[in-house]
Amino acid sequence: MTDRVEADLHCHTTCSDGTLTPRELIRAAKSTGLLAIGITDHDTISGWDEAENAGREFLVVILRGIELNTDWKGTEVHVLGYELDQGSVYLHDYLRELRSAREKRMLLMLEKLRGIGIRIELDEVRTVTTGQVIGRPHLAQVLVKRGFSRSIKDAFQQYIGTGAPAYVPRYKLTTEDGIRLIRNAGGVAVLAHPGVQGLEAEIPFWVVGGLQGIEVVHSEHSLDDEKRYRKIAESNSLLMTGGSDFHGENIKPGVHLGGWGVSLEVVQQIKDLAGLF
Ligand code: AMP
Ligand code: FE
Ligand code: FE
Ligand code: ZN
Repeated sequence: MTDRVEADLHCHTTCSDGTLTPRELIRAAKSTGLLAIGITDHDTISGWDEAENAGREFLVVILRGIELNTDWKGTEVHVLGYELDQGSVYLHDYLRELRSAREKRMLLMLEKLRGIGIRIELDEVRTVTTGQVIGRPHLAQVLVKRGFSRSIKDAFQQYIGTGAPAYVPRYKLTTEDGIRLIRNAGGVAVLAHPGVQGLEAEIPFWVVGGLQGIEVVHSEHSLDDEKRYRKIAESNSLLMTGGSDFHGENIKPGVHLGGWGVSLEVVQQIKDLAGLF
């Protein structure tokens, strides 16, 4: 299916790990001829207000979204949520819990580093954070600045990457809980890029748990993936969404804004489903 891309429903900004600010993203969307954008930063909604203001300025329809990194039996599964209620207590509780879990995890990593003779204080890591979220990329920067590692990549390899001596896994919701959270907050729950993990056996189970859509079109999906997930969506009466997963050229080279997406009709379908618990 080659419907014209009018809406790119999977985009990241500087609020998580993208390179454009929300306003820059919307301006770029306008200049590529897109009519709608889904802003889906990882685990944060801090870009929504700026994106909505820019949407009014540039006449681009905004879907307020989020991408939750969840855990399904040891596999990381990404769930997209759209049009959640910004005032939702469930959502705010989760985001607060996540931030405090990240702080605790950072303290654990610093403790592990101390165990191997590297003393770094939390405040020092805080000096390199830009938003509300503290993570391994920040610690890596400090490790480089202090001369313990030669590059960010080395810092992950030597100290904080998976399996390295100071690695501590991140707190994650289960996939079912992620879906439930989005629904409780009035949002529409969509399974992100299932082809990346090769997931499909679990989909009917997640549908029972409240899943309403599948991201069928995605920059990392092959045409075969797209066909397969379209079929699965049809047989489970699910929305078929799509987007590029744009992060910026430096972070995901070749993944252009609007290179993958759906028609404006899908935006309306999502808006129609939002708020139905
Ligand atoms: P965190 O959410 O704190 O676990 O940090 C995850 C982020 O660290 C990812 O989104 C990447 O940007 C970055 N990252 C993970 N592994 C590496 C690596 N080997 N080299 C450089 N950056 C990495
Ligand atoms: Fe990302
Ligand atoms: Fe993802
Ligand atoms: Zn993404």
